[in-house]
Amino acid sequence: MRPERSAVIDLSAIQHNIRRLAAVASPAKVMAVVKADGYGHGAIPAARAALTAGATWLGVAHISEALALRDAGIDAPLLAWLHTPESNFGAAVAAGIDLGCSGWELERIATVARDQERPARVHLKIDTGLGRNGATAASWDRLVGEAMEYQDQGLLRVVGIFSHLAVADEPRRPETDQQLAAFREALATAEDAGVDPEVRHLANTPATLSRPDTHFDLVRVGLGMYGLSPFSDQTSADLGLQPAMSLRTVVAQCKDVPKDQGVSYGLHYRTADASTLGLIPLGYGDGIPRVASGGPVRIAGTTYPVVGRIAMDQMVVDLGGHAEGADIAGVGSEVEIFGSGMAGGPTADDWARAAGTINYEIVTRISSRVPREYVNDQAKPVVEMQ
Ligand SMILES: *Cc1c(COP(=O)(O)O)cnc(C)c1O
Repeated sequence: MRPERSAVIDLSAIQHNIRRLAAVASPAKVMAVVKADGYGHGAIPAARAALTAGATWLGVAHISEALALRDAGIDAPLLAWLHTPESNFGAAVAAGIDLGCSGWELERIATVARDQERPARVHLKIDTGLGRNGATAASWDRLVGEAMEYQDQGLLRVVGIFSHLAVADEPRRPETDQQLAAFREALATAEDAGVDPEVRHLANTPATLSRPDTHFDLVRVGLGMYGLSPFSDQTSADLGLQPAMSLRTVVAQCKDVPKDQGVSYGLHYRTADASTLGLIPLGYGDGIPRVASGGPVRIAGTTYPVVGRIAMDQMVVDLGGHAEGADIAGVGSEVEIFGSGMAGGPTADDWARAAGTINYEIVTRISSRVPREYVNDQAKPVVEMQ
């Protein structure tokens, strides 16, 4: 039986998006970023789909996320870049996971490599202006020097140099040029010190799509592989991308109510006339933002705004009067919260606007309470008929 509520993940859409991004990035290679459970799409199936479509690297924030991919049997080059002193560097080196390194991690990585008699693979990170992770320009020379000493001792190899952009989603802002210049300078310093990296990487999805001069050897794409647009003035379709997640359910209850019926906690909505209310069994406990009242829901071909407060488990739409001849929604009618956007259906972008956030957050926050349903899995081996 079909789950009564599901996030349907179209794996062929992920493959399409990876192919599209790979064509844009070529000759640079593609790292599929599958952190945060693949932005809510499921890290393992998303990673597999991306690898079959031409991505050659995987990226995650945490070592724990990388280990889960290795445990699933995925052996592609894999980078984890966000660590604390409690991160399991030993397990990462043992599993052949590449490690981003901004400073203090270097000594820890060298220590576990010495213990395991196995050289670690390190990507040195320079902060070119984002102000988060990465070595400052002032500490870069020292980090590079220390890394090369460990490399000479056979404890590690500096396989990558990377940085992260702050405003690539706003292509007209000048800071991307400044970050690019700072990155080139850091690369030159590292190369002067003898670093010969396999991959230099800077671009995220927006830079991949709008700034070819940031591509270097590898682009790190997250949002785009899931088919969403990072730009406020361009849709997925404008970019040739297909949203991979559709959130759907069925109507749980439908009832006729009189004029002035209050709806949901606080009674902030009242029916303007005698009407019919449809109950949607999804709420903030499923990851729908509580503030997103007014967000669009499509039922039987018509889009309705959510009225009244979104609760933990449910939300309500006002189906209006009984439009004659219309395809009336009823209990069990299919409900689309967001999806591909085709034929004018609601999108994650619509929900982002309703919630005052970005599409990244809308898909990522759909909770594990909502079963994922995978469709169009071309990564499965095809059984040849004799
Ligand atoms: C999340 C992340 C990315 C992917 O960014 P998108 O905008 O989703 O493509 C790339 N690099 C780093 C370091 C990240 O943290």
